[in-house]
Amino acid sequence: MGWGTGMDNQINEVTIVGGGTAGWLTAAFLVRFMNLRNKQNPVIITLIESPNVPTIGVGEATVPTMPGLLRSLGISEKEFFIRCNASFKLGVRFSNWNHDRQGRGTSFIHPFDGISTQLGGQNPAYHFHKFGGPPGRDNIDDCLAVSGAAIAAKVGPKLLTHGDYESQLNYAYHLDAGKFAEFLREISIGRGVNHVLDDVEEIEQDERGYISALKLQRQGRHPVELVIDCTGFKGVIINQVLGVPFRDYSKYLLNNRAMAVQIPHRDVSKIEPCTNSTALGAGWVWRVPLYNRIGTGYVFSSNFRSDDEARDEFLAHLGDDGKKAEPRVIPVRIGRMERAWEKNCIAIGLSAGFIEPLESTAIYMIENFVKLLLINFPDKSFPPILSQRFNEKTEKMMQSIRDFIILHYCTNNREDSEYWRVAREEMELPESVENLLEEYRHTLPVNTDFDGVYLFNYFSYNTILFSKGYLGGIRYPAERFIVREDWDQRIADFLKYEQKKLAGLPNHYQLLRKIRGEDDAQVPQSGISFGGFGGPAFGAPPGGIQMPQATVQLGGGPMKPSIRFAAKKSEEPAKKAEQDDLSGSHIL
Ligand SMILES: Cc1cc2nc3c(=O)[nH]c(=O)nc-3n(C[C@H](O)[C@H](O)[C@H](O)COP(=O)(O)OP(=O)(O)OC[C@H]3O[C@@H](n4cnc5c(N)ncnc54)[C@H](O)[C@@H]3O)c2cc1C
Repeated sequence: MGWGTGMDNQINEVTIVGGGTAGWLTAAFLVRFMNLRNKQNPVIITLIESPNVPTIGVGEATVPTMPGLLRSLGISEKEFFIRCNASFKLGVRFSNWNHDRQGRGTSFIHPFDGISTQLGGQNPAYHFHKFGGPPGRDNIDDCLAVSGAAIAAKVGPKLLTHGDYESQLNYAYHLDAGKFAEFLREISIGRGVNHVLDDVEEIEQDERGYISALKLQRQGRHPVELVIDCTGFKGVIINQVLGVPFRDYSKYLLNNRAMAVQIPHRDVSKIEPCTNSTALGAGWVWRVPLYNRIGTGYVFSSNFRSDDEARDEFLAHLGDDGKKAEPRVIPVRIGRMERAWEKNCIAIGLSAGFIEPLESTAIYMIENFVKLLLINFPDKSFPPILSQRFNEKTEKMMQSIRDFIILHYCTNNREDSEYWRVAREEMELPESVENLLEEYRHTLPVNTDFDGVYLFNYFSYNTILFSKGYLGGIRYPAERFIVREDWDQRIADFLKYEQKKLAGLPNHYQLLRKIRGEDDAQVPQSGISFGGFGGPAFGAPPGGIQMPQATVQLGGGPMKPSIRFAAKKSEEPAKKAEQDDLSGSHIL
């Protein structure tokens, strides 16, 4: 026999319940990676979606693994931009999460593109800590990452001559969630996924408690071998039928409600290439600029604001932009299923868990859950070791994201509201976060701190800890060995590097128009101006130089996928990608 338990035991059919981002991304991924090469013995993939239960309708910001994912799915980036009204995201701007000595809100960028080479045998964050940045570059990201300058200049990450997935800077996307699910649906159906519009009314289990069939309202009994629960917060199968316990994170994270609204651009030609996260009195507001509109919403805690109070505060924040807005309230459940894989059911998406959307990690988790499923794909014997591996890894992933989100709250210094005081002083900290915070009183983050890290590495940790002033007043023993000359040289080199990285990058809006084929407007060859960032004191000399590489790499740049495809130009990217290596966007 040779292979596992033999052909007659193999799973021939996968049923996905739910047609939101989780359901359709799962379908698109599985049909491509299970069936594209496997023509002899394809798996039948069916997606059942209720015509009555709406999708959550939010979830429009992503992280920089997304371009690699779309490319690996053989999707034309240009078509994606047009269909999903997408825009570029080069980082997240946090405003008002901390206050300066005068009680004014501070702001910083969590960047997607920076340098991470050592300096004098140390993490250059030590140099920043000891010597600070040059005038006008008060945050660590201004000295080690180029995304902030690109965001300030409102440029896109690609040259106008770049094709699909080519770029000069790391980037993610903002996308229309509804249109994205629609786009993936078309692609998946075109590649052979069966689509059933019906409601799952009842669920049949066999004597072991495994799901044996779904009873659909109109089409009757649908037998299943392996079922993927993508039914959103309800968790129709994993939660309601299999009764897997929910691990509530509310002792760590306060927010349990959101309200969302769509508003028009005042002037789309000024569209920012970043997500904004602005802290209010009892939570924070996201602002995600798409090509055709802005998605915005307030994530808050009902312990500190009623819905009406939150609505008033949110609309006051939006000012004239929110005049006709009628925000929709969305209760959110923060936590995760104790086991996302139970018997022959795997939960993916909101059904598996949700950590608040602060760093736009939910679609990233969907991506990684489905990758882990493919890696650990079972046969009908459902060996417990596979579900165990899957559950351990997904738990670790969610915990590492949870910890990073908690860091944003526990390091706030705001004294102006009870919510922020409680977030800092009264919320429980997981032991993992307590340990890291204790370690960082004595040493700075390095990548090896994040064993099995999925998304946020030392660079992200450094950015948050420094930018929120958490490391002020500490003298690290390791700083003793570093000297200012090295730092001055690094800054001088960095400014040239930054100039080179940004050279020729067009205005974000014009890049979007070009990609969408609407570039009748005049398109400048270079949209970058250094005047707005750092000022002429940083006057850039002509020509760029390569950033000198130190001998030891601390790890990848901030939030980079662990493997990036070499940029390729293609006239027919979707077709071309079909022939591409199918190794996936990054390896788990
Ligand atoms: C306030 C907020 C902001 C967010 N922001 C971001 C962000 O910026 N970035 C990000 O990555 N993520 C974000 N997310 C998360 C993101 O929205 C979700 O991860 C993503 O949309 C996936 O949702 P889903 O498909 O799991 O669930 P849903 O969209 O809720 O879809 C559930 C599906 O199940 C179907 N269904 C339910 N019951 C049945 C039944 N009985 N029979 C048949 N079908 C059924 C429904 O019809 C629907 O198709 C945010 C979430 C919230 C709440």
